[in-house]
Amino acid sequence: MHVLILGGTTEARELAGALHARAGVRVTSSLAGRVAAPRLPAGEVRIGGFGGVEGLARWLGEHQVDAVIDATHPFAGTISFNAAGAAACAHVPLLALRRPGWVAGAGDDWHPVGSLEEAARVVRGLGGRVFLTTGRMGLAAFADCAEQWFLVRSVDAPEPPFPPRTEVLLDRGPFGLEGEREVLRRYAIDVLVTKDSGGAATAPKLVAAREAGIPVVIVRRPAVPRGVEEVASVADAVGWVAREG
Ligand code: NAP
Repeated sequence: MHVLILGGTTEARELAGALHARAGVRVTSSLAGRVAAPRLPAGEVRIGGFGGVEGLARWLGEHQVDAVIDATHPFAGTISFNAAGAAACAHVPLLALRRPGWVAGAGDDWHPVGSLEEAARVVRGLGGRVFLTTGRMGLAAFADCAEQWFLVRSVDAPEPPFPPRTEVLLDRGPFGLEGEREVLRRYAIDVLVTKDSGGAATAPKLVAAREAGIPVVIVRRPAVPRGVEEVASVADAVGWVAREG
């Protein structure tokens, strides 16, 4: 059974490892190629776009794929719709592995917004020293925020446009609680901006912000394609493959 995992997340890598260890399963992970030196999953890996719905549908046929798992990041909206279209076209079963979003708890001061552009507007009224953890793509939305100072954390260095007063912290998760407390303290952060990515690997920043009484601007998730079977854990995705096989 040939399984294509659309990846780029911790869960996708874990899933590739779990499936690669199963007899009778050939696993190929697909990465977009955004990160210069990605952590590679077990099994086969291909890198780069497919060329839209048509390109992906063609790839599924040419490589005799029996099942597709969309384990991409919740904010990678285009590829999820492409996967739904291509899987339907090629008559290949599709599963989405989506980690649940984060939920605010007592003591959290969250400001949900619908986009990075709205985050840039809202953050203006919340603080002067911003910890921006939305990734290096999309920094253009904050480029006009000249009044504030930004700490941008990303895996690879961002390219302009980004805000004029920006310091870059090159780092890759998972991030622990003590480290996140230290970042907030060392850089005197007074507001945090994040996407609602969910998952444990980057959640400690939310705990650190709560402890420090720091407001969090949190970007809501984009829409997902309708009618796609969905699971929230790697174990459930492995179970789905076992049933499909
Ligand atoms: P996107 O906006 O949904 O996709 C844009 C295009 O990139 C797609 O149309 C597709 O090109 C290509 N692509 C995306 N994911 C791909 C994959 N896994 N394999 C092959 N091609 C892929 O995606 P994005 O937001 O730029 O994210 C790109 C990758 O980074 C994803 O794999 C995602 O899991 C990972 N990631 C994204 C975020 C985020 O915040 N967006 C955060 C962490 C990790 P074609 O149309 O040519 O096929």
